[in-house]
Amino acid sequence: MAELEFSFIGSGNAFAPGGMCWNGFLVDRRFLFEAPPQALMSLNRLGVGVDDVEAVLLSHHHGDHFLGLPFLLLQWKHMGRTRPVRIVGPPETEQIARQVCERTYPTVFDSPVEIEWVEAKPGETLRFGDLSVEPVEVKHDRKLNLNLGYGCELGTRQFAYSGDSAMCDGILDLARRSDVFVSECSSVSEVTDVHMNLRDDIPRVRAAMRADAHLLLTHLSDDVRDVGGLRDTTIVSDFETYRL
Ligand SMILES: [Zn+2]
Repeated sequence: MAELEFSFIGSGNAFAPGGMCWNGFLVDRRFLFEAPPQALMSLNRLGVGVDDVEAVLLSHHHGDHFLGLPFLLLQWKHMGRTRPVRIVGPPETEQIARQVCERTYPTVFDSPVEIEWVEAKPGETLRFGDLSVEPVEVKHDRKLNLNLGYGCELGTRQFAYSGDSAMCDGILDLARRSDVFVSECSSVSEVTDVHMNLRDDIPRVRAAMRADAHLLLTHLSDDVRDVGGLRDTTIVSDFETYRL
């Protein structure tokens, strides 16, 4: 079975604890999940080229998932990107991104780079070449318009991403269908209605997954270090690549 490659541009939660980079990852060096503030720096460090990212998929509009977009647009404009790019996210992603980017780099959209903005909504499967993406609503910040996880198929492999979420039906649905599930794990034991923790929630996520599937934990606090006896579960690190 073909391997999937997950390269983490960051693994920290919103507080960048201990100097960790904010969470985000590349799949097969082509599909970027999240655009955290340091996304461009991290992509450069991983040696990702200006034309390599085919699509950016945003789960929700919190700043740690999203505020790296102006720098990506700046690079694409000035460093010779030639391919179109898709930017995918919940409704209003284009409007919010345009406000942020045009206020910070006013000419950044005066660019030859073609951007296709794609609204992701639950129940509407998206196809980008050989990647298909099913947006799933998850439980996070109710004051944002929509918080998404993504169930994906690439070639013959299924993977999923939780976005930011507390335990909910959407998370368990994503966990059941995955060969690889990239899940947030924002603390060891903090109980909130917007995030999952290692003690209470991650064992339920793992139990919902197939025995041969792999769980990658990200969006971490810096004391998430030991998964105990959970099988095939990895706490990811900044700039590491996992082939699964
Ligand atoms: Zn969030």
